[in-house]
Amino acid sequence: MNAVRGRFAARTVRVKAPGKVNVSLNVGPLRPDGYHSVASVYLAVSLYEEVAATSTENGGISVSISPDSALDLDGVDIPLDERNLAYRAAAIMADVSEKPTGVHLEITKRVPVAGGMGGGSADAAATLLACDALWNSGLSREELAHLAAELGADVPFSLLGGTAVGLGVGDELSPALAKAQMDWVLVCADYGLSTPEVFRTLDRLREAEGVTAQEPSAVDPKILQALRSGDPDALSRVLVNDLQRASIDLAPQLRDVIGMGESCGALAGLVSGSGPTIALLAHSPESADGLAEELRHLGHNALAVHGPVPGARIISDTLL
Ligand code: ATP
Repeated sequence: MNAVRGRFAARTVRVKAPGKVNVSLNVGPLRPDGYHSVASVYLAVSLYEEVAATSTENGGISVSISPDSALDLDGVDIPLDERNLAYRAAAIMADVSEKPTGVHLEITKRVPVAGGMGGGSADAAATLLACDALWNSGLSREELAHLAAELGADVPFSLLGGTAVGLGVGDELSPALAKAQMDWVLVCADYGLSTPEVFRTLDRLREAEGVTAQEPSAVDPKILQALRSGDPDALSRVLVNDLQRASIDLAPQLRDVIGMGESCGALAGLVSGSGPTIALLAHSPESADGLAEELRHLGHNALAVHGPVPGARIISDTLL
């Protein structure tokens, strides 16, 4: 607890953490433990969640959400209790910290909710880092990554950022060398898709076809090559997402969004993670801006972003 002349002095640590696009996502069969093995290439993109963690005198954890003006949260249900991933991240940090205070987490949301971009995971990653600083826990990045994996498969990546290959359930990460920036347009839907339901749909479609999926053990090296060389044309030829057909089965209009993006000049498009956000690959920052503008004219919620960008980092630390 901070004490200034015997009085509690609140402190706010503000952290930003990126959302992600899966540039490739191979999904294995349903495992006996209810999970699916994946082999994926994650790319952190320049759409950030922000968490301001403020110490409170009275103990406990509270959460509030303030949507960025570009994100419409009307009718979107985000729990503020222990079902919120950021809340759970703070609870885990309080357990491993010697002198935790209470904390209020104010989340500025920019990543579409249930959009397949790991927004809740980014909130959790940001909260781990913010509480580590707030409570002087002194955990290493490796220790934080360990706690992150307990919270969810996508949380370690938001902490790490950049480009990484994810195996296991997506949490066994190896950073990949890909410094060249790629430009994307995200087309955000005004509805969400439940990740477990998308996986269940994929299982059902495969079963109906009598297809037995292989356990994925590696990603296509061509994807890493294209990312390393920064060649968007080469990347556009190898983008893959096994979940895409399941997302389209649940929301058939996604096929039209990809088609529209490609007919407006995108090199290629795919569903991001479990969707429904669509990621369209562009040639350059200028073509991404132009494409986003054109899609907005057509009534879509489109946003130009780039990646890779760094993982969760502290942007301010203030005594109030
Ligand atoms: P992923 O791609 O990691 O599976 P997502 O990006 O599709 O997830 P999220 O926005 O992370 O989806 O959230 C999915 C659901 O989790 C939401 O519908 C909401 O009920 C719940 N949730 C829990 N914590 C959060 C949070 N901090 N922000 C948003 N949703 C949260």
